[in-house]
Amino acid sequence: MKRNKQNPDFVHIGRKLLKWYDSNARALPWRNTKQPYNIWISEIILQQTQVKQGLNHYLNFVERFPDVQALAAAETDEVLLYWKGMGYYSRALNLHKAAKQVVEDFNGNFPEKYEDILKLKGIGKYTAAAISSICFDEKIPAVDGNFYRVVSRLFADDFDISQSSAFKYFSELSMMMMPENKPGDFNQAVMDLGSEICRPKKPDCGSCPLNENCIAFQSGTVHKFPVKLKRTKTTDLFLKYYFVHHKNQFLLKQRADDFIWKKLYEFPDEVPVEFEQFVENSTVVKHKLTHKNLTIQIETVNLTDEVDFISLAKRNHFNVVDFSESKKKSFPKPLENFIDKWIQRPTEIK
Ligand code: SF4
Repeated sequence: MKRNKQNPDFVHIGRKLLKWYDSNARALPWRNTKQPYNIWISEIILQQTQVKQGLNHYLNFVERFPDVQALAAAETDEVLLYWKGMGYYSRALNLHKAAKQVVEDFNGNFPEKYEDILKLKGIGKYTAAAISSICFDEKIPAVDGNFYRVVSRLFADDFDISQSSAFKYFSELSMMMMPENKPGDFNQAVMDLGSEICRPKKPDCGSCPLNENCIAFQSGTVHKFPVKLKRTKTTDLFLKYYFVHHKNQFLLKQRADDFIWKKLYEFPDEVPVEFEQFVENSTVVKHKLTHKNLTIQIETVNLTDEVDFISLAKRNHFNVVDFSESKKKSFPKPLENFIDKWIQRPTEIK
């Protein structure tokens, strides 16, 4: 298909998609509102979670933080706690910072222009386009991996999506399909089509409203698209922790660095050398993050009654927490699993 801004086929496909969306849009709680705050929260949650799992997280989050003011005024620990179960905690920290930006730099009013929305911490081009099109009718395609997949299949387009120019390329292509009215609905239609029908694996082409127009489907080449030539490299990472416990308490500290798990709680990664004599056992846990394979070694240290646990913690700048209170803190998933298992162990071997 010739890429020409006047090509009526592009507009025709866009309209067809809108028509399909009118009667097939998923009923989701954030679809009943045009409040940018709600659209923003839902978009950030959906970047990392399937709609089915994300729904409850969204409802809990907006119930506790119903607007940007409530989120800006909250303590960081509480925001992280409400993010529990979704991972990617840096996104929660960015949400919190952006809420403060809205209060401080925009007088508490969520910015309406795409360029202003982009200034908020953690909001990239995709999210800014989704918010500005859905809430403020700006005609900007919300282009992400979903978009690349649907559009490259539709036009059997072999443009390599791992290239940095892919965003500009697919944005231009999408602009040609985007009808003048309802840009927000158009973006949501592509989101729904990509997640429900034009799925990465096993697309349901038989139910697709665009199958007559889809060049990949018509030519039996759906499996060839999208084309991604460069694979992202995965790195290995080793972490060591000391799980120091005494009676019903254990030591923890808050992670500061920007590398991974910023502001989450973790066990100490080093302890005074005299602790070595109390090491009971060693556990190795494997965990995958995006582009990182973690190997985590946890040394369990059971301090005896002769050790003054509290003053020792103070001297070494560690925090002490009761096992019963640990659920109120946010830990990286592998450490949370470790604590849960520990709590569930029969008492005689604790
Ligand atoms: S026909 Fe199949 S490959 Fe083409 S857009 Fe529809 S679901 Fe995707």
